[in-house]
Amino acid sequence: MRIAGIAGALLMGGLNVASSQVLTSNLDQPALYTYCQQFQTLYTQIREQRIQPDSARMRFSAIMRGLQVRFQSMESYRVDSLQRDSLRRSGRYFAFPLRGYSTNAIGGTHGEGFRSKGFNLFDYNAKGSHPAQDIFVVDRNQDGIDDRTGQPIDILAMSSGLVVGIETGWKPGSDYRGGNWIWVYDPNLHGLFYYAHNNQVDVAPGQWVQSGQKIGEMGRTGFNAYKTRSPTHLHLMYLQIQPDGLPQPLNTYPWLLTAKTVK
Ligand SMILES: [Zn+2]
Repeated sequence: MRIAGIAGALLMGGLNVASSQVLTSNLDQPALYTYCQQFQTLYTQIREQRIQPDSARMRFSAIMRGLQVRFQSMESYRVDSLQRDSLRRSGRYFAFPLRGYSTNAIGGTHGEGFRSKGFNLFDYNAKGSHPAQDIFVVDRNQDGIDDRTGQPIDILAMSSGLVVGIETGWKPGSDYRGGNWIWVYDPNLHGLFYYAHNNQVDVAPGQWVQSGQKIGEMGRTGFNAYKTRSPTHLHLMYLQIQPDGLPQPLNTYPWLLTAKTVK
């Protein structure tokens, strides 16, 4: 498992500390879990409007650059990046994020549900954009159970990465739009996947997940997703982190078209 590799690399780094210089550089680099805690805290503050957008922007950028440096400093991770790059070229990098579903479940006919204009991650009042793809399931009675199988629908990680934030406490009546969400940082792409409206979250911040691994179960959580006019779906967003550490929504539609489907 990747997490074992990372933990191993960190442990080795710790054991190999021989000079105060190395110690200092280790202290300058917080543990991965620290970044996850910072991300979780920041995103919650943004949602609750307890932080000014400008401050949030600066903090987000610092977290993202910190994560990037942290992963780049891992010898074992760099080797794996090469393997993942070749996997990406072979078209097997991404897993379709719903078990048992494929491209025809994507909303619209050509993925036109993606609208990034007006997007601002740092201002909870910024509305109107939909920098995401919605992927719909067969759930006519809206109980969150797949009508075809009588089972919950598994949400799968689209690519391997580090879980940096989760929400599990959404309740009907809450006006939070994402409901129960999961953020996963893919250090190979240097970007963030966001999976929203889940009924159940099966991962925790700091956890490494593999492409195609179950991370939760589909639900109808979120202010709009809970309403009967909203068919049951996964809201999938990907934010490409720019050199300045700030996020730019990217349309995942081409990735979804080539993603391997998981039965
Ligand atoms: Zn959506």
